[in-house]
Amino acid sequence: MARVLIVGAGLTGSLCAALLRKEASCPLHLSVWDKAGDSGGRMTTASSAHNPQSTVDLGAQYITCTPHFAKKHQSFYDELLAHGVLKPLTSPIEGMVNKEGDCNFVAPQGVSSIINHYLKESGADIYFRQCVTQINLRNDKWEVSKETGSPEQFDIVVLTMPAPQILQLRGDIENLISECQRQQLESVSYSSRYALGLFYEAGTKIDVPWAGQYITSNPCIRFICIDNKKRNIESSEIGPSLVIHTTVPFGITYLEHSIEDVQELILQQLENILPGLPQPVATKCQKWRHSQVTNAAANFPGQMTLHLKPLLVCGGDGFTQSNFDGCVTSALCVLEALKNHI
Ligand SMILES: Cc1cc2nc3c(=O)[nH]c(=O)nc-3n(C[C@H](O)[C@H](O)[C@H](O)COP(=O)(O)OP(=O)(O)OC[C@H]3O[C@@H](n4cnc5c(N)ncnc54)[C@H](O)[C@@H]3O)c2cc1C
Repeated sequence: MARVLIVGAGLTGSLCAALLRKEASCPLHLSVWDKAGDSGGRMTTASSAHNPQSTVDLGAQYITCTPHFAKKHQSFYDELLAHGVLKPLTSPIEGMVNKEGDCNFVAPQGVSSIINHYLKESGADIYFRQCVTQINLRNDKWEVSKETGSPEQFDIVVLTMPAPQILQLRGDIENLISECQRQQLESVSYSSRYALGLFYEAGTKIDVPWAGQYITSNPCIRFICIDNKKRNIESSEIGPSLVIHTTVPFGITYLEHSIEDVQELILQQLENILPGLPQPVATKCQKWRHSQVTNAAANFPGQMTLHLKPLLVCGGDGFTQSNFDGCVTSALCVLEALKNHI
């Protein structure tokens, strides 16, 4: 049975796994490895250390579906809506730019539930805290090394991490990337920002008429969202959770500062925007070094095939755009590249 490794349990990796399971014409042994401790990647949902039932989306907030992709990716939307993974966004987000015909969706159980839906569908073996460090060719197979544990061999490898992290991999892969491919991978750029999740005691009232708000007049804060209100899951037993996204200039300026210092600066600015908030019972500050793609790999739409026999392919939003449809497009291109091999 062919052994396939997908590196990255984000949206692209989980979708690749689900599509491979559905479309493969021969039995496959599918594994998904991620260096993080949980699934989601940039679609992560963090739990409060105080009450794990209180959660907050720290990366992607809502899914915007344009009329073009409503048609093109209809089966993906239909499936997620039918399973209750996505629901229409009904709470007001002030300052949101909405083009005519766009629909917005939220994931009531947190945005990472989209990824968990696909991982479950894939039936793959999922391993967390597996940071891939090297990829080498051994007897027409890929030998994949990780930070801890023995290397393992695979017939096909799919990489879905941000482009700079592909370029950090060592071993034979370094020499297999052509000059043109390297230039394209190097040309992929990302914005950087921080996200701060704040969890409050049950019963706390945050008295504002919106669920989310884009801020244009603050050097540090770009977006604030009362996450449980956005997801329409307000409850008297579980306290509200808030997420704050910083501006990109702030993210870049403080990229190498300590997370504690950054959290303090965000909290100080928050006091100017929402004065008098109570003390949160738990917090989670997340650095997004690779937040959203600002320049994709233009010459490799959807995927980049680094090696044919054995197959080594990379995908992700770096080859399309940073949103749900960008990841679906990439996963479909990866599937197309793998089609004759599975
Ligand atoms: C702050 C923020 C807000 C956003 N808002 C929205 C939004 O509202 N709507 C929307 O549609 N999109 C939004 N996005 C974009 C969206 O989240 C991304 O486009 C999407 O999640 C990318 O998925 P991916 O699977 O391609 O990459 P990722 O989610 O980055 O997944 C890659 C995975 O690879 C793992 N990895 C990396 N290196 C290694 C290694 N060496 N070994 C093993 N594992 C590794 C990482 O841990 C990660 O889990 C937002 C993103 C951010 C950061």
